[in-house]
Amino acid sequence: MSEKGVEQDRRIRILDEITVCKIAAGEVITAPANVVKELVENSIDAGADEIKVEFRGSGVSLISVTDNGWGMTRDDALLALEHHATSKLREVSDLSGIATYGFRGEALPSIASISQMEIVSAQDPGAPAACVKVEGGVVKSVGQSASVRGTTITVRNLFYNTPVRRKFLKSEGYETAAIVETVTKYALTHPTVRFVLNSAGRCVFSTRGNSDVKSVIADIFPPDLSSSLIECSVAEDDSRAGRVRIEAFLAPPHLSKPSNRYQYTFVNGRPFKNRAISHAVSEAYRKYLQPRQYPVLFMFIEIDGRLVDVNIHPTKTEVAFSCEPALHGMVERLVEKGLSDYRAVPAGAFSEPAPPVSEVSHFQNELNLQETVFLARRFDGGGAPHSGSAPGGEIPPALRAAPEESVPQGISGRQSLRVKKIIGQAFNSFIIAEDDSGLVLIDQHVAAEKVAYEKILESLRAKRINSQALLIPHVYTLNRLEFEILSCSAHLLEKYGFDIEAYSNNSVAVRAVPDFVGGEVEKELLFEIISSGLSDSAKFDEERFIRKLAASLSCRGAVKAGKAVNQETAGLIVEELQGCENPFFCPHGRPVVIRLPLSEILQKFKRTI
Ligand code: ADP
Ligand code: MG
Repeated sequence: MSEKGVEQDRRIRILDEITVCKIAAGEVITAPANVVKELVENSIDAGADEIKVEFRGSGVSLISVTDNGWGMTRDDALLALEHHATSKLREVSDLSGIATYGFRGEALPSIASISQMEIVSAQDPGAPAACVKVEGGVVKSVGQSASVRGTTITVRNLFYNTPVRRKFLKSEGYETAAIVETVTKYALTHPTVRFVLNSAGRCVFSTRGNSDVKSVIADIFPPDLSSSLIECSVAEDDSRAGRVRIEAFLAPPHLSKPSNRYQYTFVNGRPFKNRAISHAVSEAYRKYLQPRQYPVLFMFIEIDGRLVDVNIHPTKTEVAFSCEPALHGMVERLVEKGLSDYRAVPAGAFSEPAPPVSEVSHFQNELNLQETVFLARRFDGGGAPHSGSAPGGEIPPALRAAPEESVPQGISGRQSLRVKKIIGQAFNSFIIAEDDSGLVLIDQHVAAEKVAYEKILESLRAKRINSQALLIPHVYTLNRLEFEILSCSAHLLEKYGFDIEAYSNNSVAVRAVPDFVGGEVEKELLFEIISSGLSDSAKFDEERFIRKLAASLSCRGAVKAGKAVNQETAGLIVEELQGCENPFFCPHGRPVVIRLPLSEILQKFKRTI
């Protein structure tokens, strides 16, 4: 660059309007979903009760939002394209009482500067509509078109003149899901508005606009979820938080997901994230869920707006409450009550009480030991059964470990368990044994589960799997994100013996499953396994998927608690457990082994060591 060029570059200049808009757009519009958000908000602000959103090519090639709001005249439409042109704010004193989404007048000019935009709008339904075409922020034509009621704004070729921004877009599936999520959130908070969302001419969902949130949920989410929601609400006057109203729709624990993205929380009609509230929800659900399972719920909080700080996060998605502890308590109590009322419903037709929650997972899906061993063998690659469990209850000498001062007890790294002698079984559930440093109690069910888990995991990793066709394919309706991720990952699942075909309409058909799953697997369980790979990053999480698959299968095959096992069987279980990478915890995080150190026993009996 020449000296002169450098000098010229240093001079201060006023940026032209279009450059200003492009820079402003960079802050507001980073993805197609942001365009959808701005246009839908404008339609709501315009009093519309019907809003149709259409997009193609994850919103980059086309986004079009049509509403039946009060519309714009030709002059309004032209003015709306000017920076800081708004009909919603007249002077600074207005700022405190804003009831609309927009007020800065920045969205339309920003979007127009980075796309090809067309505004068709009319205030008088009888008269022809104004039609304004803009390209890269420059008005190309102003004309008339057939009469309409309200406004249609069409945005084509988004980011066509900002190639760098275009490059930063995520996968098509991700951007599509973001659009669906955006419209979903407005539909949930505006049940009086009829929303229609179309992707490439195909209806993703449409809501009824009958002012009932439950109908909105039913219109958007699969029936198994919407039909089983637990409805609860509270209205309280709190000394710190003032008047608070919370309405929640909770999914029962068995419909939880491996990610927390299905927690739809709104404060005063706007989506938000807040750690205290998420924590309150997790606490209330905790005793019903396995680790890394997250509840699905819809929660609407109404609270004095002055207690909500939306400015702690640049995109205003995260908020702070100045009465967080009070709100935390209220949410936790509400969710807890909702879940316990649900759990109190009798399980059977004869009103027998439901088993305590802690035992449910323990006793379900049990097979007998033979089946466990059989299952484990199949994953062993058909090898001969382990020999060496001695009838006397003693672990064979080869397995005995040299005396050791301390045995690791934590959960890090490879752990070892070295049992010297099996003493017996207690309560038909626990194996009592002796190791070098004390007495150990082993939960026989969890131990068998853990052994099967590690074997299954190993063969899944080695991809030693055969596929078996299902007599009747299982069909699942998914939400849009799940559908996108699954249809992109069908080939991956094929490696594990699954044959999954994506349909239109957000459905998939499972035609074949790994042969060890067999035809018996229940629909819910199968979907739970498949969906465990649906991660936050919109990519199929293979490792999480095979862990879940292994965990579910091992649980089905494991020897049950409440079953007498003889010394030989106990020996076999212990022997296999000792071969595990980590024998101390099961895949769901429950302990397998409890140890009572000899030193403590001696101390309790007042014996000197
Ligand atoms: P803001 O929403 O902050 O006012 P926008 O740039 O989003 O700024 O919109 C500018 C103006 O254009 C709005 O104030 C409104 O008067 C008008 N406008 C935009 N979209 C619509 C619509 N769908 N119906 C009626 N008027 C609209
Ligand atoms: Mg706006």
